[in-house]
Amino acid sequence: MNDEMLKKYAELIVKVGLNIQPGQRLLIRLTPLEAAPLVHAVADYAYQAGARLVDVQWRDEELILSRFKYAPRDSFDEIAQYRMDGLVQHLEKGDALLSIHAANPDLLNGQDPELVATMMQAYQKALLPASSLIMRDAINWLVVGYPAKAWATKIFPDVDPDTAVEKLWEAMLHICRLDRDDPVAAWQEHNAKLKAVSAYLNEKRYTALKYSAPGTDFTVGLPEGHIWKGAESVSAAGIRFMANIPTEEVFTMPHKDRADGVVTASKPLNYGGSLIENFSLTFKDGKVVAVKAEKGEDTLRKLVEMDDGSCRLGEVALVPFSSPISQSGLLFYNTLFDENAASHLALGRAYKFTMEGGTEMTDDEFAAHGGNFSLTHVDFMVGNDKMDVDGITADGKREPVMRRGEWAFEV
Ligand code: ZN
Ligand code: ZN
Repeated sequence: MNDEMLKKYAELIVKVGLNIQPGQRLLIRLTPLEAAPLVHAVADYAYQAGARLVDVQWRDEELILSRFKYAPRDSFDEIAQYRMDGLVQHLEKGDALLSIHAANPDLLNGQDPELVATMMQAYQKALLPASSLIMRDAINWLVVGYPAKAWATKIFPDVDPDTAVEKLWEAMLHICRLDRDDPVAAWQEHNAKLKAVSAYLNEKRYTALKYSAPGTDFTVGLPEGHIWKGAESVSAAGIRFMANIPTEEVFTMPHKDRADGVVTASKPLNYGGSLIENFSLTFKDGKVVAVKAEKGEDTLRKLVEMDDGSCRLGEVALVPFSSPISQSGLLFYNTLFDENAASHLALGRAYKFTMEGGTEMTDDEFAAHGGNFSLTHVDFMVGNDKMDVDGITADGKREPVMRRGEWAFEV
């Protein structure tokens, strides 16, 4: 992992992803200890961009395992509240947030699913005040990855850990367009393309999308006023930022009461450290009425039954099969990467900014417009090179949106 590339990555994070403004503070969270070199490079660029203070909340996986080994069994609903309070305080001041995702997908394999679910639910619940601000784009925020050893080894199990890290880093360089002469310019061009696709879909005002693929025969309703988004977002303070690097998707919100049929996942889902494989969900009137999984069915059922909204959809996203992540042929076991490899849906909470006037709505108003609420938001992949998607117009006509996993229109 050479220094020059790491600096390019940090520069992209600060300038294009976060677009840090003079006077802002930056908090970096979920960061593995291994990512210290990236944190340091990001701090350098952030201060040069005028940041007043850069701070980090580390995430230590050894510490989580120690808890599962020795902590009292009745303590898994407890969390470090002061961290959440600090996070909310940071966000309420309008400061920037960077999350570095590099979790070991197998960390909690073999642990008591009951304890894992309790811990996850307590965490999501405590995170709610912060996640509500983030999901409203109250501030400029960004999620990126880092090639940590345990994660890299999961993707490349046949080589030694150092080689696995090198291989993951190489894949990330390509996917994040860091191997281009001018990565910043490459991202601006990519952003323009995604914006044009969103604009096309916004003009169409489809009332529903119909998916067909092997194992999938599924219709999802789109509420009136839904907005397709892609790449760039704008924060409450008017700062343009890109919430995910990489990002290849355009996405909007489904109507929480209008999803029907069967949808089969095209990739495994890593949920809270457990892997759910070869699964399908059956929907009726927006609600999951049956789940089937070759592996991890219990985990999937627990997710669907977690709260009133976790059995309904909160996101519909389209990604062409030819995206660089998909072309890498790799399974990343990490939503940031895998969701950008394939068209996907999310169980759980909808983003208020995907509805006209949504960020000003109360939760009840948002729900009345078809917006789903849940403590959780979990993406799962449904797209592949055999998937066709049709848009249903207001007068009931069907128009091709995707054919064999690629856009069926020109922009
Ligand atoms: Zn998405
Ligand atoms: Zn999502």
